[in-house]
Amino acid sequence: MLIKCPHCGTRPVEEFTFNGDASIRRPTSNDPKSMDQWFDYVYLRENPKGRFDEYAHHSSGCRAWLVVTRDTQTHEIFNVVTARDYAKKRVAP
Ligand SMILES: [Zn+2]
Repeated sequence: MLIKCPHCGTRPVEEFTFNGDASIRRPTSNDPKSMDQWFDYVYLRENPKGRFDEYAHHSSGCRAWLVVTRDTQTHEIFNVVTARDYAKKRVAP
């Protein structure tokens, strides 16, 4: 599988370290009443079939954090953006 890093170009998947679902959001409150939200955030993960946004660290390249959107069945890659751009896009109205 090849991944097109926005900084380095097309690189083999072995250069990347994956770190799970990029779509989950960290709870904003530290209030003890939000412990259920924190439990879900820390321990519970979906195992989706199909399109999936996943953090990838280009650990053997530019060391940038990226978000790779791929199909979990076919491994087709739809999009690769920096984690910063992904976060900005989520915040935008
Ligand atoms: Zn790179």
